[in-house]
Amino acid sequence: MVIDTVDGRPKAEFRQLSLADLPDNDVLVEVAYSTLNYKDGLAISGKGRIARRTPMVGGVDIAGTVVESRADRWRPGDKVVVNGWGLSETEWGGYTRFQRLKSEWLTALPPAFSLEQAMAIGTAGYTAALCVDALEDWGTIRPGDREVLVTGAAGGVGSIAVSLLAHKGYTVTASTGRPETHDYLSALGATAFVDRTTLAEKGPPLQKERWTGAIDSVGSTTLVNAISQTVYGGAVAACGLAGGADLPGTVLPHILRGVALLGVDSVMAPQARRQRAWQTLSKHLDPRHLASMTTVEPMSSLPSLAEDIVAGKIRGRVVIAVD
Ligand code: NDP
Repeated sequence: MVIDTVDGRPKAEFRQLSLADLPDNDVLVEVAYSTLNYKDGLAISGKGRIARRTPMVGGVDIAGTVVESRADRWRPGDKVVVNGWGLSETEWGGYTRFQRLKSEWLTALPPAFSLEQAMAIGTAGYTAALCVDALEDWGTIRPGDREVLVTGAAGGVGSIAVSLLAHKGYTVTASTGRPETHDYLSALGATAFVDRTTLAEKGPPLQKERWTGAIDSVGSTTLVNAISQTVYGGAVAACGLAGGADLPGTVLPHILRGVALLGVDSVMAPQARRQRAWQTLSKHLDPRHLASMTTVEPMSSLPSLAEDIVAGKIRGRVVIAVD
């Protein structure tokens, strides 16, 4: 699937490419699976200008097998995962049978997961783990303590964040706009719910202290309210903008309650942080939870799935079987 520029706008279409068309990077990977993330939805639907040069092969995630390598670190047959590193933005991505990638972008497939499971996790799940790690590094959340809030809970990042936090023993409150997902989120470990509309309304800068920590994939007023409701010394890990990229708040929670806003980026995260996030996932993501939140779809479904994820209609994670 290639994103190109047509009449000044991004347009995605399926195209036949040969190995000679691929970039001259040092490792050739046969792609088994890719995924659908919010960013992929923006890129394919044309609702966001994700590709910074065109033509661009889409797909921010890859799980596959090394076929050829000019790098000592990787040998044919190695199973690898790639998340981010500018794939589908500045570098050709995962919606293709084969891709040539830079050796430093590859992470060995963690032994706990199959290639398909690694993509059920994908960028969304690995980002959820980065958020959990960031909150724990801040050091004020404690298992069994007061509630940890997860916003956009029924989405990809949110579902995996709920499952990881619950497995670690935290009390998880899920914010969702879809009441029909409550049973699903309860099964992942959420014990209370907040209707997302209550977090989307503008509130006072300092509100009743409720969350010991929060993981936010929504942004805008939702993020500001999460910060305003966080307890003294707590922290909010912000990774997304599904509800907006603005931050219409005040400094008061930060300067009067010492609340930290922890920014989380998955794309250029260094390898050490990635390895740690994959360890967190290996130890704390229940494979049954992962199965319950995942659907596997063919490449041909990408155009309609892209519209669905941007409209907030996808529950959990979508794996794309590349064939
Ligand atoms: P999903 O679409 O799977 O999940 C987003 C969820 O946000 C939806 O399921 C919905 O949850 C909620 N939501 C959607 N629209 C709105 C809205 N208008 N107002 C409030 N809530 C809304 O996307 P992903 O999980 O793949 O990604 C989530 C966000 O995180 C995206 O913004 C993405 O760009 C960002 N992201 C950032 C990364 C980074 O490196 N920083 C990496 C990965 C993702 P519900 O139905 O439960 O209300």
